[in-house]
Amino acid sequence: MIEAPHAREAQQVAQALGVAPEVGLSPPEAAARLRQYGANRLPEPPRRGPWLRFALQFHNPLIYVLLASGAVTLALGDRVDTAVILGVVLINAVIGAVQEGKAERALDAVRALLSNRASVLRDGRRAELDAAELVPGDVVLLESGARVPADLRLLQAKNLRIDESALTGESVAVEKEGTAEPETAPVAERRGMAFAGTVVRLGQARGVVVATGRATEVGRIGALVSETPTLQTPLTRRLDRFARQITWAILAVGLLAFGFGVLVRQMPMFEVFLAVVGLAVAAIPEGLPAIVTIVLAIGTRRLARQRALVRKLPAVETLGSVTVICTDKTGTLTRNEMTAVRVMLADCDLAVEGSGYAPEGGFRCDAQAVDPRRNDALQALALCALLCNDAQLQKSADGQWQLAGDPTEGALLTLACKSGLDAAQLRARYPRLDAIPFESEWRYMATLHRDEQAPGNPFILLKGAPEEVLALCTQEVDGTPLQRQRWHEAIARAAQAGQRVLALARCEAPPGSLKAGGQLHPADITARFTLLGMTGMIDPPRPEALEAVAQCQRAGMRVKMITGDHAATAAAIGAQIGLQAAAPLAGARIDQLDDAALRRALQGTDVIARASPEHKLRLIAALQGEGEIVAMTGDGVNDAPALRAADIGVAMGSKGTDAAREAADLVLTDDNFATIARAVREGRVVFDNIKKSMLFILPTNIGEAGVILFALFAGLALPVSASQILWVNMVTAVTLSLALAFEPAETGIMQRPPRPPAEPLVTRAMLARIVFVSVLMGLTTFGVFEWELARGQTLEAARTAAVNMLAFGEAAYLFHVRSYTASALHRTLLHGNPVALGVAVLLVLLQLAFTYAPPMQSLLGSVALDAASWGMILGLSLAIFIVIEVEKAVWRRLGRHRM
Ligand code: ADP
Ligand code: MG
Repeated sequence: MIEAPHAREAQQVAQALGVAPEVGLSPPEAAARLRQYGANRLPEPPRRGPWLRFALQFHNPLIYVLLASGAVTLALGDRVDTAVILGVVLINAVIGAVQEGKAERALDAVRALLSNRASVLRDGRRAELDAAELVPGDVVLLESGARVPADLRLLQAKNLRIDESALTGESVAVEKEGTAEPETAPVAERRGMAFAGTVVRLGQARGVVVATGRATEVGRIGALVSETPTLQTPLTRRLDRFARQITWAILAVGLLAFGFGVLVRQMPMFEVFLAVVGLAVAAIPEGLPAIVTIVLAIGTRRLARQRALVRKLPAVETLGSVTVICTDKTGTLTRNEMTAVRVMLADCDLAVEGSGYAPEGGFRCDAQAVDPRRNDALQALALCALLCNDAQLQKSADGQWQLAGDPTEGALLTLACKSGLDAAQLRARYPRLDAIPFESEWRYMATLHRDEQAPGNPFILLKGAPEEVLALCTQEVDGTPLQRQRWHEAIARAAQAGQRVLALARCEAPPGSLKAGGQLHPADITARFTLLGMTGMIDPPRPEALEAVAQCQRAGMRVKMITGDHAATAAAIGAQIGLQAAAPLAGARIDQLDDAALRRALQGTDVIARASPEHKLRLIAALQGEGEIVAMTGDGVNDAPALRAADIGVAMGSKGTDAAREAADLVLTDDNFATIARAVREGRVVFDNIKKSMLFILPTNIGEAGVILFALFAGLALPVSASQILWVNMVTAVTLSLALAFEPAETGIMQRPPRPPAEPLVTRAMLARIVFVSVLMGLTTFGVFEWELARGQTLEAARTAAVNMLAFGEAAYLFHVRSYTASALHRTLLHGNPVALGVAVLLVLLQLAFTYAPPMQSLLGSVALDAASWGMILGLSLAIFIVIEVEKAVWRRLGRHRM
């Protein structure tokens, strides 16, 4: 590698690295270097290994209780119970560690899809690569919003400003030029370098890679790729706290019960102790936080399959309660396949025929065919459209025309070709000397050219939003003063038809008239242009976006469209996709409104036009002030603050910049609005499944605990022994409670309003269900136990029956809890959630082992059951199923469809 590249001239550095800056490396050479230098990656943050993860499972109040009781039973010489307790502790830790590992892997898989990309020059062609494939010597192209993928010696820089805070902590963006610096210059002052991990705020540049991976400056200071991935979210933290509080409450109840049993009932101390341990184990919902993590992880994986990548886990929870979706228009609601259909010249409007990017199609004026080659005004406009343009068109093998670049520019390029212009020839004749790239902030692009055949004055070509360009024009093509009124009417005509309007203009730039010598600077774009004309282009809405917008509206969300386009264009498109578009709100108007007025204005419209990224921030603030939960899309570097401010920031995966993707919670790999709607739906499913998991786990725990508590206070024999409670808890934890994580969406999930953000996790309806089912579980278990004793069975047989009753009752309830109040007797009962069916079968097998396997019998004190017992157990399970079916019917009668 190169010593002190910042102190050498860029050309020298490129030469030393054996690369021609205009061509880049050849793919074989790059592959060879990749083997030599290794992948361009920083070390991963240290991970919890499987052992540490296993060990951390013991850090849990329930486990402390169990270990303490294990110690007590051991001291009292009760080897069997000690063994059971330790076994349960171990199995619990293994399950916990395995599940956590699974959740982490699911998230890793999603994260891998979010890898960084880089634009490089290889063999003279621009290519998009995974940043990990960069090698020293690669020529990298940077533009605003890009994360610098490796340490670069800049070859060229144009208006380049780089945010180096990741490296230096300095948040003001640094201006960069390609200059060499003294060897002793500190990193922060090396203006000829761009460093890996920093972000381009503005401008464009080209640089040669001098260091990759660990050899970069960030690599050397030992920075890591990303924050340590965390499985924690506000919800899991809340549940952790909840579980801890419950634990203390239960321990207090346990102590009380212990005192009561020993002092009042005068029961043997050891027996009461074991009962209290069983009580604690039964009642503590230790599995809850883990279940939530798994539900979130599974939801994340499901979202990824539907082309929505979650960058921050808490977003999955929030998605379900989104009330407003603010979305970009171009490319998200529309296809971003622009076609110029209209050319407006000083003397006539031309209709353009043809479709797509294929350069085939004629021009018509009032239904009369027009020969484009003989229309000088059209030729002048087409030349501007061709030269003030960065797009490229290629005919692919299957005869389709493929666009590389911005669709707006692609449409203009196609227009130029339809006008009969020869792109290659004209680009050679009028070489580009300099350019100001398009930015949504100023809404124009300008280029500076020279005419090789008439070595006179260079000239400037300008294209952009018509208001901006009109303000810079002074005359018509024939030299007469500009007829502004006429042009404004032309803009309105095209815009009302839903067309995106661009104006094109030109001015001569005699030597010495440019502010910065031979370079083009925004200060050169002054009111001195000649208006060549305007074009109107269509960009049809995506058909699936139409359906998705309607779906979101049915689901109680409002969709707001934000665009840089003209208000009339935006209104026309907005109306087509079903938005409230009669009175679009323009960016300039937003600047005049105070917050209260803005909120009111937003009530009346869904269309925001001529908006810039700062407007997005104000919209978010206004909507959040109304208590809305806002999802906001964005793609540019300047959208990053809005993406962070929104409750759910959504970045575009393919056209979005690195800066936007890194600020976002969610990345859409297909840039499609319909994906947002699907993500919201998935978010609702996740939240439902978390609530359903609680609806399942809490009553089964309370039912078990209630049985023990009741027996203790009533002075009756315990229907289940302490080790049996451990058993039931364990088998249901590995089987039933996992099933709900895989539950698909309930029908009608997108027909109900979003979950109010302030709604408690356990609603009143849920509480009622929990109490109801707890009582059912307790009664049946106790009932079976007493019935067995009454018909003369042994205590062991009665307990075995009670344990089976608990397990089968829970299985019956599982098939109900899959839907809130919809009947379980539906054709999806068995195959709707294959996991539920699978774990239920597994549970039956485990219970048969419990009842009939000799080692289990000696360990857990179970005995074989007769047919009568099984008949009773299955009958009562069926009864539970039916009773809950009736309870659900009551809820439905009351008009309740969710809890
Ligand atoms: P959107 O938010 O819909 O993507 P943009 O901010 O990209 O809107 O564009 C806003 C306006 O800027 C457009 O209506 C068009 O007039 C103009 N414009 C768009 N792309 C270009 C470009 N490449 N060059 C010049 N002007 C452009
Ligand atoms: Mg755009």
